[in-house]
Amino acid sequence: MNANLILEVGLIVLQTIGVILAVDFVSGIVHWLEDSYGSKKWPIVGKWIIEPNIRHHFEPRHFTKSNFWKRNAATLVLSGSVLAVISLLGWFHWTWALAALIGGVTNEIHCWAHRSPRENGKVITFLHKAKILQSPRGHATHHTDPKDRSYCTVTDWLNPLLDGVDFFARIEKFVLKTTGLKRRIDESVRPPKNKKKCCGGQCAQCAKCQLKKAA
Ligand SMILES: [Zn+2]
Ligand SMILES: [Zn+2]
Repeated sequence: MNANLILEVGLIVLQTIGVILAVDFVSGIVHWLEDSYGSKKWPIVGKWIIEPNIRHHFEPRHFTKSNFWKRNAATLVLSGSVLAVISLLGWFHWTWALAALIGGVTNEIHCWAHRSPRENGKVITFLHKAKILQSPRGHATHHTDPKDRSYCTVTDWLNPLLDGVDFFARIEKFVLKTTGLKRRIDESVRPPKNKKKCCGGQCAQCAKCQLKKAA
């Protein structure tokens, strides 16, 4: 193999890893925004993105019973639109196409972290065990009280780094200090003190009951 070919292959591998990490980081930021500041009352996004997100924190396996298009329609439309704009501006590069592809299916990769090896099959289970995709064990940190960390759902690589420096907690502190905006309390972890514990489907107050009613 000549030196140029080795360099080219090495560059492609590095670019691919860079794209995966960039998509993991950007999708982690979006996930953090949804979890921390998203409201079901927001127009369009509230119903189609925030509400399923809140449901996911109450019932993490619920979306595994859905189908591919329901899970990924929003991100596929968004990443496809970004790729179309980039192409129209004449900036197309294969790395943008790869980013749009991975970005479009981040929720599918997230879904695999909630499935058993039997549900996932051999290939995805191998990718989990090889630590190429986010493993169920890695993602479990996000669903563990107080549910305020590990927002990246594509790999297991970024979360330990971001959590290690309190990346999102520091931004939340900065936002609170500069704007007065508090992050949303995850009701699946700590019901507000002025609200009763979930009655199991009857009360008009708690988010869990409201989700059941909306379903
Ligand atoms: Zn979340
Ligand atoms: Zn999850």
